[in-house]
Amino acid sequence: MKPEILAKYQDARVPRYTSYPTAPHFVPDFPAETYAAWLADTDPAAPLSLYLHIPFCAEMCWYCGCHTKITRRYEPIAAYARSLRQEIDLVAGRLPHGNPVTHVHFGGGTPTALSADDFSRTMEGLRARFRFAADTEVAVEIDPRTADPERIAALGTGGVTRASLGIQTFDEHVQATINRVQPYGLTRDVVEALRTAGVSALNADLLYGLPYQTARSCAETVDQVLTLEPSRLAVFGYAHVPWMKTHQRMIPENALPGPAERVAQFEAISDRLRQNGYVAVGLDHFAREDDPMAVALAERRLKRNFQGYTTDDAPVLLGLGASAIGALPQGYVQNAPDINGYKRSVDAGDLPTRRGRTLTEDDRLRRAVIERVMCDYRVDLAAMALSHGTGLSTFADALPALGVLEADGVITRDGGHVTVVEAYRPLVRSVAACFDRYLDQGARRHSMAV
Ligand code: SF4
Repeated sequence: MKPEILAKYQDARVPRYTSYPTAPHFVPDFPAETYAAWLADTDPAAPLSLYLHIPFCAEMCWYCGCHTKITRRYEPIAAYARSLRQEIDLVAGRLPHGNPVTHVHFGGGTPTALSADDFSRTMEGLRARFRFAADTEVAVEIDPRTADPERIAALGTGGVTRASLGIQTFDEHVQATINRVQPYGLTRDVVEALRTAGVSALNADLLYGLPYQTARSCAETVDQVLTLEPSRLAVFGYAHVPWMKTHQRMIPENALPGPAERVAQFEAISDRLRQNGYVAVGLDHFAREDDPMAVALAERRLKRNFQGYTTDDAPVLLGLGASAIGALPQGYVQNAPDINGYKRSVDAGDLPTRRGRTLTEDDRLRRAVIERVMCDYRVDLAAMALSHGTGLSTFADALPALGVLEADGVITRDGGHVTVVEAYRPLVRSVAACFDRYLDQGARRHSMAV
């Protein structure tokens, strides 16, 4: 990558494109009746994916970009778990057909903030109201610092198939600076307990771009993580947005690595993983060759959702819990972000919908184009346009920006084919942004392109 090209794009504030249009462009006061009508219209054959958000953590990590609340008391979590089970009933009751569930994902916050009993009862509620297949993937994000033996056993008996371990870094100085002290030995013990409980597939989440992190410490963390034998890793760059996440003001800005150092850190991680048999998947994931994500990549079936890259190709994603986002063929819906507002709606027997967006045909086409750019680093615009009943001229607004990227050597173009040059793949978000009709309205609200 040429330094002058990196310098040119490093400050571009572009979304991660886990949806299109992106969440800042959802409209407020979205009617719950519209969501109810979408649910009632669900194709009887459509597989379902369920996302459950658990917005509680025991302690705040200063880098956190998630929607969560810090609590040491269990009563608010128990009350939330009751509302979550009520919402499961509310949503399932509006689906007229017994659609099969192919994926379930518990995210947070910290899903293991739920007690063993509440997790088991939530899984029972899901299984009672939805039709699970024999091979339904049930994935749970784990904070190893709070995953005790009882909770881990409940994951196993609840049928969890994949655990994502938050690790970020094993560099002790960095851990202390970001307020997340998590020794290697503790993490290794949790991994062993998960495998004993029958949770066989493990993901590891790493971060680069943290204060005091170096390319060397990133590589050392990878060496330690490899001893845990994860089948998949997510490697995200720390997004410093203290104007949106005020606790990030605790991060010492003068210790943050610059754009060139961030690239060097990512390359150190990437090189180490490739040398050890992992395949790069999209912008920020790695998978062993036999992992379903690597297979999906090879077969061009990789998708994007709110967790990033995924093998989940269910056309209907139902979001459950405060702030959870659902993605349906008709559009997006988001639940009340505040826990009290969420509970009030659910306890009154109402869907807790607050924001959303009905998709236009143009949105659907651009969503498909952006997904292929982000997943495959290339897209056939003519074929995409044709499959949506239109022509290449639809993308006329993208041509000036694509022309600049081509002149900079970031992409190549051949007819309607756009390909991101391998050396510039870290800039893929800037390529995807060419097709985003809404970007200018909120461009400064996102993190750096690299
Ligand atoms: S555990 Fe995760 S969600 Fe909770 S504060 Fe830390 S980074 Fe945020």
